Amino acid sequence: MTISSAYIHIPFCQQICHYCDFTKFFYNERLADEYLEALENEIHTYIPGEKAKVKTIFVGGGTPTAVNHAQLKKLLTMIDEHFDVSYCEEYTFEANPGDLDEEKVRLLKEFGVDRISLGVQVFDDDMLEKIGRVHRVKDVYTNVDRLVKAGLTNVSIDLMYALPGQTVDHFEKTIDEAMQFDLPHYSSYSLQIEPKTIFYQRYKKGTLVKPPEEDEAEMYELLQRKLASAGVNQYEISNFSKPGFESKHNLTYWNNEYYFGIGAGAHGYLPGKRTINLRPLPAYTKKAMEDGQPILHEEPVGVKEQMEEEMFLGLRKTEGVSFREFNRKYNKEIVDVFGEAIPKLKDRKLIQESDGFISLTSKGRILGNEVFQEFLLDD
Ligand code: SF4
Repeated sequence: MTISSAYIHIPFCQQICHYCDFTKFFYNERLADEYLEALENEIHTYIPGEKAKVKTIFVGGGTPTAVNHAQLKKLLTMIDEHFDVSYCEEYTFEANPGDLDEEKVRLLKEFGVDRISLGVQVFDDDMLEKIGRVHRVKDVYTNVDRLVKAGLTNVSIDLMYALPGQTVDHFEKTIDEAMQFDLPHYSSYSLQIEPKTIFYQRYKKGTLVKPPEEDEAEMYELLQRKLASAGVNQYEISNFSKPGFESKHNLTYWNNEYYFGIGAGAHGYLPGKRTINLRPLPAYTKKAMEDGQPILHEEPVGVKEQMEEEMFLGLRKTEGVSFREFNRKYNKEIVDVFGEAIPKLKDRKLIQESDGFISLTSKGRILGNEVFQEFLLDD
């Protein structure tokens, strides 16, 4: 069976943001050197021979561009040695606006990276400081300009909303400023207060207050409206693009296709199983150096789980899940498998059917988790 994609995790950051629960560590040159050795061992275990042909590669983090020039070159070289980059339809690097100097941009371009996802979050220096980001608004301008001049025009920016102290007007200014760049892709996420973050501790003490839920819903609707008016269409709950610029890599996830998950804390999906790698840096590095298999946990995925996931993941897309595609994959009709859930959710106006697809309504997008629960099958 074909593995469509590869996700490669680089867990280093120059500063730790107050809301972040990803696998990340302060950048340290020696640790990053050791990590890259371990990463290469893991990649080599999956792909010991001929270069793998995958449709997409996504290097995420952490901040993959937080490493120094020599390390970035080493990383790009090891990817190039194990994956057929020329076959790839999309090769993305995540980056922090402050990190991309001319040499790093040159290296990314030279090694065939053709898409950059920038963690911008908000266009307001005070707010950036409050959420623990290291970059400032001017860095976004400098970096986008540098990328575009280098011919890297397929740029996406991430925005956050429902931040402490953020009003609807404040978020509107951020959307307006983001849209001035006229980029092909935008992602936007509301703040989630996750355990083991600085924000979580403040929330517990009562010193952090999120905007009211009505404001959060208004921010989301505003984002949808404004981007749609500029021809940037919503194609997933949190993702928007001009036609043809949908993230091919992320579509791998939502289409429930297989992908390698490589690096500390990375999740993978391979035929018959999902994998989760060791998260602490020393544990990952040690195990990857020992045998190239730094896996913490493997979860078998049977047909029942695959069909459930097909629905949870596919319904995140605006187009939803195709009846025909479901039948092609599982040799079963969606309505036969989910006979109870579908009429119930339709009655509640959370899902709809049209042109051979089943999809979330606008109300369903807001209450996504309630919908997804209904697609859990009995054993
Ligand atoms: S830069 Fe990204 S990965 Fe690093 S701490 Fe901030 S949010 Fe987390």
